[in-house]
Amino acid sequence: MTEKIVGVIGAGVMGSGVAQNLAQSDFKVVLVDVAESALERAKKEIYNNVRFQGFMKKDKSQLDNPDNIIDRILFTKDYEELKNSYYVVENVVEKWEAKSEVYPRIDEICPQDTVFAVDTSCYSITRVGALTKRPDKIIGIHFMNPVPMKPTVEVIKGWHTSEETIKITTELLAAMGKDWVIVNDSPGFVSNRVLMLTINEAVFLLQEQVATAKQVDDIFKKCFGHKMGPLETADLIGLDTILYSIEVLHESFNDSKYRPCALLKKMVDAGLLGRKSGKGFYSY
Ligand code: NAD
Repeated sequence: MTEKIVGVIGAGVMGSGVAQNLAQSDFKVVLVDVAESALERAKKEIYNNVRFQGFMKKDKSQLDNPDNIIDRILFTKDYEELKNSYYVVENVVEKWEAKSEVYPRIDEICPQDTVFAVDTSCYSITRVGALTKRPDKIIGIHFMNPVPMKPTVEVIKGWHTSEETIKITTELLAAMGKDWVIVNDSPGFVSNRVLMLTINEAVFLLQEQVATAKQVDDIFKKCFGHKMGPLETADLIGLDTILYSIEVLHESFNDSKYRPCALLKKMVDAGLLGRKSGKGFYSY
């Protein structure tokens, strides 16, 4: 049997997790990023994550060797390497200028039957599909962070997404060990229409000095029994991604309830992006 090759575009927080999860599920992976530094960081992170799983697991006979996992991934800046992928997961930054540049390009490079999955926080899958000549083969997969550890994803059907595309996608997800919930297309889908508003409102509370970040998060954890509070979640996702997502919702619905909090904007301008920059609402 020939090995299935999956293309992964964007080697940041999400792309590196998707690439790791796929490589650990016996796929060959082509991981493309425009930044050499992102590819190098992803390689180090994947190696360390697989090694760390080794420390955590009780059954050492089931362990993956980090070198073998890295060998299954081609780290490259060359989009042409995607030409043999039967499936592509796109995880570039949540900016329309970036996403809209990728799709016409991969539409030319990849075989006609290759499915493209959009890993986005908020963009409409139908809008992305319109960038290609294959809107029936475009689908949304909203992976959760950290990808290898989160068992369930939100799958989004665009206007033209075909049943065959859903079938190919759910087969891929099953092979990755994931479960899924399928919803119809709308900016932010189910998860982020609710979550982004919650996080933005939590930042307003902080800005108005109603409570500290720890107090806000404690209410959610200790009173509601959530595993994480909204501001810890924001640090995990990345404050830049939160800001871009809420801006997409604001623009898409033209509804002032999605206006981003000034403190959120200021923190992003100051480079306080959360875990990935070492400081956000908390220090790491
Ligand atoms: P990130 O900023 O960590 O990484 C984005 C990567 O995209 C960077 O490495 C950048 O160099 C690369 N990139 C930019 N333009 C590119 C191009 N044209 N071609 C190839 N690579 C390019 O962002 P992230 O957190 O990994 O988010 C990626 C996508 O996943 C976004 O759309 C985001 O909304 C979505 N998402 C994020 C989370 C999260 O928790 N961070 C969760 C679900 C979905």
